[in-house]
Amino acid sequence: IFMKRLDAFLSSLGYCSRSEARLFLRLNTVLVKNERVFNPSTKVNHCDVLINSEPLDAEKLVIILNKPSGYICSHNDAGKLIYSLLPLRYQNRNPKISTIGRLDIDTTGAILLTDDGELNHKLTSPKKDVKKIYEVTLQNPLKGDEKELFFSGEVILNGEDKPLKPAFLKQINSNLVHLEIVEGKYHQVKRMFAYTGNKVIKLHRLEFAGFRVDDLKDGEFKILENDKI
Ligand code: URA
Repeated sequence: IFMKRLDAFLSSLGYCSRSEARLFLRLNTVLVKNERVFNPSTKVNHCDVLINSEPLDAEKLVIILNKPSGYICSHNDAGKLIYSLLPLRYQNRNPKISTIGRLDIDTTGAILLTDDGELNHKLTSPKKDVKKIYEVTLQNPLKGDEKELFFSGEVILNGEDKPLKPAFLKQINSNLVHLEIVEGKYHQVKRMFAYTGNKVIKLHRLEFAGFRVDDLKDGEFKILENDKI
């Protein structure tokens, strides 16, 4: 069994800082094995703790969020950060919750966030071919050869030395496509259409690693259950 000081759990999970723990235990009903606890240094098991009748947040969180436009996937930027859409408690966790990969400020849709560095690394590794599906609105109608071109594995984007892996394009109408890619190069989708002489005017990620946001409104999130990841 892995026991830790209660104040260490509270601070790493973002409930309060270590120095606020004593006050937190007075203002909230914290039970350990059904006994109310006031001493921050009490050694506890994660699973034995109830805070105001709720179990402690999981130590490894994976969240899916429907990113609205205007939010930035960064921890240090002057603009509106995507993390500000999460409850303060999640924002205060240590280790920090980070996005798994990034979406541009004006891109919307499915993005995963986690404090699990190993999972983050796995899902962003170029070797892992994690599938992403984008809904792409184009300024100009398709020319007709884009599907074949993107599937060819011969597209070399500006500034790159290796071609992109094959991508699958499904045309919805003349100016709207679904594009499935397994890489995550900087501005990849926008650059792919720039390569064809077109321009992306709206970009929405429908799916990341099989997870979708159809049931989430703009800015809403949900916690992904461990067994689904
Ligand atoms: N491709 C882009 O160009 N932008 C994104 O945000 C994601 C993929």
